[in-house]
Amino acid sequence: MRIARFVVDSDPAFGVVEGNEGEEEVAVISGDPFFSGVQVTGVRHKLEDVRLLAPIIPRSKVVGIGRNYAEHAQELGNEVPPAPLMFLKPNTAVVGPGDPVVLPAFSDQVSFEAELAVVIGRICKDVPAERVDDVIFGYTCANDFTARDVQKTDNQWARAKGFDTSCPIGPWIETELDTENLGVRGWLDGKLTQDGNTSDMIWGVKELVSYVSQAFTLLPGDLILTGTPAGVGLITDGQRYEIEIDGIGRLSNPVRR
Ligand code: MG
Repeated sequence: MRIARFVVDSDPAFGVVEGNEGEEEVAVISGDPFFSGVQVTGVRHKLEDVRLLAPIIPRSKVVGIGRNYAEHAQELGNEVPPAPLMFLKPNTAVVGPGDPVVLPAFSDQVSFEAELAVVIGRICKDVPAERVDDVIFGYTCANDFTARDVQKTDNQWARAKGFDTSCPIGPWIETELDTENLGVRGWLDGKLTQDGNTSDMIWGVKELVSYVSQAFTLLPGDLILTGTPAGVGLITDGQRYEIEIDGIGRLSNPVRR
């Protein structure tokens, strides 16, 4: 099931996206599917008639995982860490499909990073790997925009990875997905730059969620970004980055200075 958040003309609502590509409709849900389940109201819209929003604004946090694909660690001259390397992005970094990413004045080297994002569905802590499926709501595409220059000069990554608009997500949340073998691709102005597969992740979804939950209580709507495959690069004013993950869909965002 594909859960989207959208506006037509007034307040944001959630909906279920149904139908084949090009003919999708959105069946409106009453209330918040993270807390009250999926109950459709009977109202439907054509997908082209709604504006999609970030499918969730995390209640508390986005947890990022660094260097989870060996080839990507290598391309930036880094070793693969001995355990998952975590960082945080604030929920104010989250924007939706088509929203502009605003390059911060303090950086001249902002990079795109296409990533599979895990959306948490239940409050949880210390989740064993074999029970991780019970706490996952679904999956979406994320772009972990990173100010590479500041990442190198600051002692930690808060500013480099947490600036406003640095975390586009969408286009919706797919609730049923096997994440073992999914293509993760990215195009800079239509040119394929990232072409990875989740089967190359050093730590898979179950290990990551379990590991992260040992450090943080996870809340419904929290996100875990699972790392980016090789092929990252810089992006500048006026360019656009589009991500596609098998079984989810496409997320595209323009970049502005
Ligand atoms: Mg990343």
